[in-house]
Parts: sequence; structure tokens; C-alpha cells
Amino acid sequence: MLKIKHVLMCCEPEILEHLFFSCDITKQLWHEMAALLGSNQVNCYEDVARLWLSNTNHAVFNMISCAFLWTMWKFRNDMHFGRVNWSGLQIIWHRLVCLLKRWSVLCPRKRLTQMDNCVTLLENKVQEAPRILLC
Ligand SMILES: [Zn+2]
Repeated sequence: MLKIKHVLMCCEPEILEHLFFSCDITKQLWHEMAALLGSNQVNCYEDVARLWLSNTNHAVFNMISCAFLWTMWKFRNDMHFGRVNWSGLQIIWHRLVCLLKRWSVLCPRKRLTQMDNCVTLLENKVQEAPRILLC
């Protein structure tokens, strides 16, 4: 597993599994997303990849989970290279919503209404009052 020595959003050593799944911040985001979208809780890579195999039934969640992983990776890089500081979960929700809006052209037409509804729900997360996570 790739190890990166820099500590970013929390006090734990950074490895990809931690960044994408086991970090308290990431777990909180997955938890809120599952509750919001009515999907199963994501705890590991297999929980996400399993649904990629049945993309027809899970197209919207698969797009959202891919966008979320990409958002986390890009945000991690922006923090690593000093382009942004940690300011709370809202910045992640905001970036995820922006990315999903750009990716909506990739959504199957028959799933577009479902995707729009999910993006609207995620937009509400951006508006929530900031919360502080301490490690
Ligand atoms: Zn962490």
C-alpha cells in the first residue's frame, strides 16, 4: 500500500485506505452520504467496487462514489501542495457537488432525474453550519 509521510486532514499517517475509507473525516462523509442517498454504508474499497459490477442498477451511486474518491484525492493534493487549508466538511461537499454537476453529461439519460435529486440533497450539505472535527 502506498504510504505518504505527510499528515493532512487528521493526525493519522496517510495511506490511501485511510484517506479514502478509514479516516474519521472520510468515514463521516461516507456515513452522511449513505444516510442522505439511502445507500449502504461504505467502509472499504470492496463496498464501492462491488457496486461497480452492477452498474446498471447503481449507476448514480457509482458516479457519486467515484466523484467522491476523486474529490478526496484532489483535495488531499491541494492540501499537500499548500493550495488550500482544511476548513471543514463543507469544502468537500462543495467540491463533490461541483464535480458531479460537471460529470452529469456522463450520467445515463434515464438516471438523470435521480442524479439531479442526489445532487440537490448533497447541495444541502454544503449549506450546513461548519462542524469541527478534532483528532
Ligand atoms: Zn485521518
